[in-house]
Amino acid sequence: MYAIITENDESAWADETGILYHFPKRYLKYLEPGTHVIYYKGSLKNKSFSKNRLSDAPHYFAIAKIGKTYPDKESNKNDFFATITDFIPFEEAVLAKDDSNYLEIIPDSRKSNYWRDGVRAIDDETYHLIISRVTPNKVSEKKTAYTSDETVGKFQDSLESFSEGKKSKRYVTTYERNPKYRKQAIAIHGNSCAACGFNFGSFYGEYAEGFIHVHHIVPVSEFEAPKHIDPESDLIPLCANCHSVVHRKKDKTLSILEIRNLIADNST
Ligand SMILES: [Zn+2]
Ligand SMILES: [Zn+2]
Repeated sequence: MYAIITENDESAWADETGILYHFPKRYLKYLEPGTHVIYYKGSLKNKSFSKNRLSDAPHYFAIAKIGKTYPDKESNKNDFFATITDFIPFEEAVLAKDDSNYLEIIPDSRKSNYWRDGVRAIDDETYHLIISRVTPNKVSEKKTAYTSDETVGKFQDSLESFSEGKKSKRYVTTYERNPKYRKQAIAIHGNSCAACGFNFGSFYGEYAEGFIHVHHIVPVSEFEAPKHIDPESDLIPLCANCHSVVHRKKDKTLSILEIRNLIADNST
């Protein structure tokens, strides 16, 4: 399946380019797992965004695939979000309109409102037509979605080195710090600790809202080919305390069930 997904400069949707895509339920049928998508941006409305765009005109700017889709817990309108995989941004815009023709096929019946739909199913010919306009060798190598999340990285480094020494470091995988996987895992699992239920925002207020560690469930030693990671089954949110305890022993990482049992056994 193929689809266009719109991501405008300003929107009510909490999208994270190349990481998460939020959408109303009516588009669910177009965004099945594995769907090849092309990112689209409408024309420039607010000049301050000009420097962040490849073109002021309506254009396509990246390809990606839909990972999985989930009901959006933060939404009260029955909205959904999709995890995005294989995100590859273009270095140059592919304009939506080429001389006088649009690259997408607009049915006569949809002439007046076609562009209003943020998600649009396309056939494989249209998909390949758009892809064919991407300048060869101009697919960007730098995947912007992977830029490091400094704050989280530094915090976790210091946490580990103070509490456990260098040896435990090998049990903390880079996936726990990868901002893309972090954001996907938090969107899927929420930001309360999966072991003890602690929520930073509820406890410390707005200053700490949304803060949480993300723990990688598969021990590194058993993770031979770190190619694909499923943020739903492989990652889990843990508070800083539970996360430290899970990684306490250098030769063993506690499972979520084990740490939950520790908490239950020792609470009065
Ligand atoms: Zn906890
Ligand atoms: Zn961990």
